[in-house]
Parts: sequence; structure tokens; C-alpha cells
Amino acid sequence: MLTLTIDGRQIEVKEGSTVLQAAREHEIYIPTLCDDPRLEPYGGCRLCLVQIEGVPRPVTACTTPVSEGMKVETTNEYIEGLRRTVVELILSDHPNDCMVCEKAGDCTLQELAYFYGLRENRFRGERRQYAKRDANPFIERDMEKCILCGKCVRVCEEVQGVSAIEIAYRGFNAKVCPPFEKDLDCEFCGQCVSVCPTGALMGKLSLGKGRQKDIKKVDTVCPYCGCGCNLTLHVARNEVIRVSSSPETLNEGWLCVKGRFGFKFISSPERLNTPLIRKNGRFEEVSWQEALDHVAERLGGIRDRYGPDAIAGLSSARCTNEENYLFQKFFRAAVGTNNVDHCARY
Ligand code: SF4
Ligand code: SF4
Ligand code: SF4
Repeated sequence: MLTLTIDGRQIEVKEGSTVLQAAREHEIYIPTLCDDPRLEPYGGCRLCLVQIEGVPRPVTACTTPVSEGMKVETTNEYIEGLRRTVVELILSDHPNDCMVCEKAGDCTLQELAYFYGLRENRFRGERRQYAKRDANPFIERDMEKCILCGKCVRVCEEVQGVSAIEIAYRGFNAKVCPPFEKDLDCEFCGQCVSVCPTGALMGKLSLGKGRQKDIKKVDTVCPYCGCGCNLTLHVARNEVIRVSSSPETLNEGWLCVKGRFGFKFISSPERLNTPLIRKNGRFEEVSWQEALDHVAERLGGIRDRYGPDAIAGLSSARCTNEENYLFQKFFRAAVGTNNVDHCARY
């Protein structure tokens, strides 16, 4: 452990920590736009500038390792002035259409503009303008709202191992895009959407479905496979419009395409609500009692005629452990066969 002082507080942190990590561990707030504790430090947005005694210029807290006896100041008039200027510069070519932006209410840039009271901007000039539409099915890419924090590029490479996007061009023309600026064609895990601090990347399925204030968040577990990733359903007007996952969960907030974007079935009008039995070549809706009687009668008939090993049961990773336990118990004890398997073994 090393001992240092942040804003007059003496604290102890593990050797190898950055100043930002040390501050966060002790609930000292330093604003950031490009940092995510799950990604490698980047030092891109310059918002986490701090002053260190004996160091002539402000340094980025996210890339500066702590050292024994270090004295750090995270906030003063000079530092806040620098941060305010950084936010002003970012906003100088930003669309500022918070009134209709999907991200409004959950946008780090909007929060910072509010915090620094940025109604007017001293820096006015050219605005970057990019074609907005991308024909991919899941991710709305509005690159005019991109602040080039690089989080999407880094998560795609560091976490997903896909590298489907990169920052292309240089200077004012720099932009995040897939190779040759084609439409995005990737795994559609949506990790990039989940880390984007602005409205540059949004899920297409939730566009226009509800403002942040209308959303009720419901924690649940993904039903798609046995990994059991934690999901948070965003519900507006009794419809699931988006899925997110908290970084605090066992899956660290990362999901696959199914968990992140495969939720439309929940309110699909084609969803089955009652059991169906095929009668005279056509499916007919029946009661649960009739359906269960039918299954019991058919299974019993096959067992009596051909023996229990003529029957096999295939269970699903989408069921709970308890349901799978009951399923195999039913096959072994009630039907009388060990022919039980599970899709997880494929
Ligand atoms: S990305 Fe944020 S700051 Fe930009 S328009 Fe949307 S809500 Fe406003
Ligand atoms: S959806 Fe996943 S694979 Fe596609 S660009 Fe984003 S992080 Fe990369
Ligand atoms: S798209 Fe979002 S995450 Fe990616 S660089 Fe731009 S602002 Fe950052």
C-alpha cells in the first residue's frame, strides 16, 4: 500500500493504482468522459486533469500512477476553468439537440454542460456533419454527437475482441467508423452502445419509445442461455424498450446480441398465450388441463406399447436449475428412462 494526500485527505491505496482509481476508491469525484474502469486507461478527454505538487503542468488522473507521499489537488478554480474549457471545446461542434436526443437525461456530456452552466459557447466554428443512417439492424450511429472518447473502439477490441470499428482520419475529420465507412456489420453485442457517454450510439429498437424519465427499470436474469447474465429491462408504458446491464453484476455489464437486443418477442403479438394441440391437421387453442392430459396420455401410451426407452427428453438452458432438476426427475422416475439430455451439451 502507498500513502498519498488527495484534497488534503490522507489515503492509502494499492501500489500501481492510478490517481483516478485512488480518488474513486475514496469517493472523491473527478469528472471523466473517456474513462471506464473496465477498460485500459486512455487519457483522451482531458477532463480528469489534476494538479500534483512538484509537477509543473496539470496531468490526467486516469493515466498517472500514484506514488508514496504524492499530494494531489482535484479541484480548484484553475482546474475547473480548464475542465470548463474542455467541455466548451467539445460542445463547439456538437449538435446540442438535447430536446429531441434519445440520450437526454442519461448523457454525461449533458450533465457536464449543466454542471458548468454552459448556456453560451465562446468557441463557434465549423460543425462536423456526417450522414446519420446506417442500415445495420440494431445500432443507431449519429456520429455528429460523437466526442471521440474512443470507448466504443476500445471496448470492441479489448472486451469483445472484434475490432469492428476504429477512429479513422485525423484532426477535425476524425470519426469512428467500420472499415471503408461501410454499414456496421459485426457481432452486434452492443457493448459499444452501453459505454458511449453521449447519444452517438443508441439501440435502434428503443428510438422514440420513451424519455429517460418515463422508464421504469426492472432487474432480471437473461432467459437465453445458462450463463445467467444480469439484465435491467427498461420499461416504458408497459413495454420493454431497451435492455442494459450493470457493471456491478457478475457479467460486468457485458451482454451478447441476444441478451441486449433480443427482447422484442416479449410484446410480440405472435407470442403463444395458450397451449395448442394439432387436431385434424390444424393447431387449436386448448386449456392447460387438456394439454397436460393429452401429453400424459400420449407418453403413457408410447411407454406401454414400446417401453420407456422409446421416449427421450431434451431440456433447455433457458429453464432454471430447479426446472431442469424436475425435468430429469420426471423422466427418470415417472416415465422410467435415463434418456435425458440438455441443449447445453451441444
Ligand atoms: S448527446 Fe447528450 S449533449 Fe448531445 S444532444 Fe444528446 S443529450 Fe444533448
Ligand atoms: S456491437 Fe459489439 S462487435 Fe459491434 S462494434 Fe459494437 S462492440 Fe464491436
Ligand atoms: S461513438 Fe460514443 S463511445 Fe464511440 S467515440 Fe464517439 S462518443 Fe465515444
